[in-house]
Amino acid sequence: MLVDYHVHPDYSIDAAGKILDYCKKAVELGLKEICFTTHLDLDPARKEIDDKVRVDEKIMEMRSEWPEYYLEEIQDARSMFAGKGLKVKAGVEVDYQPHLEKDIGIIINEYDFDFVMGSVHCLEHIAISSSGENAKYFVGRSAEQVLEAYYHVVDLAVESGLFDCIGHLDIYKRYGNKYMDFESQKHRLNEYLVSILNKMKNHRIALELNTSPFRNGGKEPHPGYDVLKTCQRMGFDFITIGSDCHCVKNLAKDVEKAFKIAAKYKLSVYGFEKRIPYVL
Ligand SMILES: [Zn+2]
Ligand SMILES: [Zn+2]
Repeated sequence: MLVDYHVHPDYSIDAAGKILDYCKKAVELGLKEICFTTHLDLDPARKEIDDKVRVDEKIMEMRSEWPEYYLEEIQDARSMFAGKGLKVKAGVEVDYQPHLEKDIGIIINEYDFDFVMGSVHCLEHIAISSSGENAKYFVGRSAEQVLEAYYHVVDLAVESGLFDCIGHLDIYKRYGNKYMDFESQKHRLNEYLVSILNKMKNHRIALELNTSPFRNGGKEPHPGYDVLKTCQRMGFDFITIGSDCHCVKNLAKDVEKAFKIAAKYKLSVYGFEKRIPYVL
């Protein structure tokens, strides 16, 4: 039973592809569920960069009524595809930064989302996940400093109670690996992970298995196999699977492989409806 729980339709300004086109492709691929996860980026310090959302070719601000249009369009798709064996879910991928908690809470509580994923993209207001920006953060920092800063923010995201799932854990590896050796910090990394995964277990927060590295030449998903091993050792088995596609062509890329990885590490894959998890 294949699903994709990390899909960016054209509401995200860095993505292309209409909700309906993604759904058509999902049926072609035999997916049972598709969950849209448009970016929700609220950092005032990044207003000119990513505090924008696209609604029918029109650019709106993140703090506006755009979710009404988004949820309506998803509802239409849901009705249209219900007879075709595809469940269509409404989610968001929230850029978590501690100073935004209140604003995030207001928006995610105002609307009926099925799935709210929290992702740490930014440290010190710099997107470490962006090809254009990451150097500004990594240059001049050590692996030890980066891990400490990143996992501190992830820990706060978990503690915030805002999220159903933590997106692409260890995303710092994508570009940080060019500048520093995270392997040298294995012991420290393990301490952060044990503490965070314990909290996630207690708060019933899922971990995303994100397949995007595979289509960019990477050998491991986010998070990597060392993290998945730690999950297995700790009896943490609560995951979602997503491709993080930003165009229809990449929908569900390597999702089948991710299900095999999940089975290998004894992880159970979950879906969400109205923010309630259920095993797939
Ligand atoms: Zn992300
Ligand atoms: Zn994403």
